[in-house]
Amino acid sequence: MPASAAATRHISENDLEVYALDPLADATPIEEHLLVCEECRVRLVGWDEYVGAMREAKVVPNRVWCSGRPVPRSVLALAASCRAVLFYFVDELDH
Ligand SMILES: [Zn+2]
Repeated sequence: MPASAAATRHISENDLEVYALDPLADATPIEEHLLVCEECRVRLVGWDEYVGAMREAKVVPNRVWCSGRPVPRSVLALAASCRAVLFYFVDELDH
């Protein structure tokens, strides 16, 4: 984002997400805009909370992710049960 646009255009959701993920990266135009725009600061707080929750969730052991979302344990249990039944019938067909 050019410096002149930094003061007039709001930061895109993608840029806010990237900034929330790595605030140490070179993001001078974003930081300049954040100095003057309360709306984007509020949106950044939302992204900070989201990124923090995602980082915290990734340390939960045995968590399986699909398309960026955690898979409920009940779905994993159902999948394991279906696999066991399938293996049983495949084994029966061999005999
Ligand atoms: Zn803004």
